[in-house]
Amino acid sequence: MKVVVLGAGVAGVAAAWSLWRDGHAVTVLERNAGVALETSYANGGQLSYSYVAPLASPSVIPKIPPWLLRRDSPLRFRPEWDPDQWRWCLAFLAACNQRQSDLTTQRLLRLAFHSRSLMRSLVAEHRIEFHYVQNGKLVVHADPASFDSACRLMDFQRSLGCEQRALSPQETIFLEPALQAMAPRIAGSIFTSSEDAGDCHEFCRELERLMAAGPEPVHWRFGADVRKLVVREGRVAAVATSAGEVAADAFVLALGTAAPELLKPLRIRVPVYPLKGYSLTVPVTHEGGAPKVSVTDFKRKVVYARLGGELRVAGMADLAGRRAELDPERVEQLVAEARAAFPLASDWKDVRPWCGLRPATPRGTPILGPTPLANLWLDVGHGALGFTLALAAGHVIADLIAGREPAVPLDGFRLGD
Ligand SMILES: Cc1cc2nc3c(=O)[nH]c(=O)nc-3n(C[C@H](O)[C@H](O)[C@H](O)COP(=O)(O)OP(=O)(O)OC[C@H]3O[C@@H](n4cnc5c(N)ncnc54)[C@H](O)[C@@H]3O)c2cc1C
Repeated sequence: MKVVVLGAGVAGVAAAWSLWRDGHAVTVLERNAGVALETSYANGGQLSYSYVAPLASPSVIPKIPPWLLRRDSPLRFRPEWDPDQWRWCLAFLAACNQRQSDLTTQRLLRLAFHSRSLMRSLVAEHRIEFHYVQNGKLVVHADPASFDSACRLMDFQRSLGCEQRALSPQETIFLEPALQAMAPRIAGSIFTSSEDAGDCHEFCRELERLMAAGPEPVHWRFGADVRKLVVREGRVAAVATSAGEVAADAFVLALGTAAPELLKPLRIRVPVYPLKGYSLTVPVTHEGGAPKVSVTDFKRKVVYARLGGELRVAGMADLAGRRAELDPERVEQLVAEARAAFPLASDWKDVRPWCGLRPATPRGTPILGPTPLANLWLDVGHGALGFTLALAAGHVIADLIAGREPAVPLDGFRLGD
């Protein structure tokens, strides 16, 4: 079958991977000059299979006033004259209840575990280099109350197959000595040994390289700006792009935050809104000062990952419009956080800042699967977990296109669920 994938972020590249492995003739359309140059470029690098609990939970409600008022809060809301933003916020608030949050966690864990097994097979089968490490993850809590609730979540997640351990402050430092500077503000931590990390951009480039082989290599059309889906008799016949029309038997839409705009003229509404985040990449100049395991500072919502000789720091979630522009004040805040946490990791002279737009849905679940158009499939809305979930999401889409039962149940992921 001829399949066109729209978008070469990690979602589109991973979907192309599963489709190519199924033997389809795959074309990927991307407006940029290469793969993963937007949100999938310099994200936090965490393959966070067991930390999938959504932002929308009852514990978030009391934190909303400080987000609105404090300029240095890790989450920031700037109201826009944009009905989509308000609709998103109302749906987010409606999802902030325990039942929905538990349900979302269960669904995301299933998808994430499937991704983990696909990632483990991929790296076992192929020599690919993207600074991948299976080094585990420490989530560090500053408040005893937050640590207690993390322990409760750990108990709940144990029943769903997660293996995690609660550590005292001393055990935390013993496991990751580079956390020494943070020691006075550690109430406890949760360690998950089965978490991985890697560079998302390099990962996409490596999959692109692998897909150049075989009897039917993937056809990459970079610089192709998708303008419109051409619909005839309830099916997509072609996509109109800046480089002409491209016809196919099936289409997979993986356009990240651009998805709603393209779908709106077809009256397909996807609740995806950009949640802007920042990252820094710094060279590690003092080996003992940089963490080896991935670390999350839960209170400040900042994550740290070792990617080869560099440290990747990521954080902030700003619901503040649709433009991926660096705000110097937010960059400074993130540098200050990272320097305070790991002062010796780097000399902090060569800091590469970046920002990207997470394609967030109010509940935190991606939208996967069929649409009212028979041959159009969605792989969007991966929010803060796109790198983690991409392989499983792409696999599920390939299952559906092949007419197989999807490897992970689609409940809660389908459009309109
Ligand atoms: C600061 C930050 C930290 C993060 N940390 C992590 C992490 O540690 N772990 C994790 O799992 N996830 C993380 N994420 C989330 C993850 O990066 C995203 O979920 C993921 O990159 C989304 O991938 P995507 O392919 O859906 O979107 P994108 O990467 O945005 O890809 C969409 C592609 O579609 C293309 N496109 C859009 N419109 C058109 C058009 N009209 N024509 C042609 N092409 C078009 C774009 O150019 C782009 O390449 C983080 C995100 C941010 C911002």
